[in-house]
Amino acid sequence: MDPKEMKERMKIPKQPMPEQNPKERVRNFYEVPYGYTSEQAMQEAKRCIMCKNPLCVGGCPVNIDIPWFIQLIAEGKFVEAARKIKETNGLPAVCGRVCPQEDQCEKICVVGKKGQPVSIGRLERFAADYEREHGEVAIPDIPKWTGKKVALVGAGPAGLTVAGDLVKKGHKVTVFEALHAPGGVEAVHHRHDQVCQHQSQIRAGADDLLGFDPRSGPLHGMALLSQQLRQRGGHLSIIIHDENHRRSA
Ligand code: SF4
Repeated sequence: MDPKEMKERMKIPKQPMPEQNPKERVRNFYEVPYGYTSEQAMQEAKRCIMCKNPLCVGGCPVNIDIPWFIQLIAEGKFVEAARKIKETNGLPAVCGRVCPQEDQCEKICVVGKKGQPVSIGRLERFAADYEREHGEVAIPDIPKWTGKKVALVGAGPAGLTVAGDLVKKGHKVTVFEALHAPGGVEAVHHRHDQVCQHQSQIRAGADDLLGFDPRSGPLHGMALLSQQLRQRGGHLSIIIHDENHRRSA
């Protein structure tokens, strides 16, 4: 980027997030921030100076190609931006809302050294919401079955992400969940946040199309032992995840 354009971009103020009026939001449990409009997202995206050494990517736990997806938003290519994010992050609508970007990618954004960092999380949320709201969510091509079956215990964000990645590699996946619906921490701890619940359910639905076999209910989530799972489903690998334990068998 030539220095003149960079200078112009650095002058663009951070775009505020539209949100519910406090007088209204004390009376409901709807999500407080509304999300960027297309115009606001494009303007915010133009604040990124497309660093040759994008420090922000190193601050992202899943290494999203941040400058690339932001550039796509700046060009108005919102669906393409969502798909770029999804190359490494299966839950962008959720991560755009609940990831602590202020301690990760945005904390080390180069623009933030002289002013406010680029709103990477808000842009991530915008791209994911746009894709879904415009009916553009696409199921990627699934390779031929590898012959391997995997059982996943826990349909929280981690379980759904792993399931999505395994299905994309050609394995058959069964997800077992103790609660009545998938979503995990999203559905439980953010239970008043209807949008987050919605995101989880949509994600679960999309993953269903990918070839998941989701099974919910206490029996499936808590009482089945590894051996039983193997006997019932012939699963090669069993991955168990919750907030306190991470183990696989
Ligand atoms: S560090 Fe900030 S300005 Fe640089 S590429 Fe990343 S988001 Fe853009």
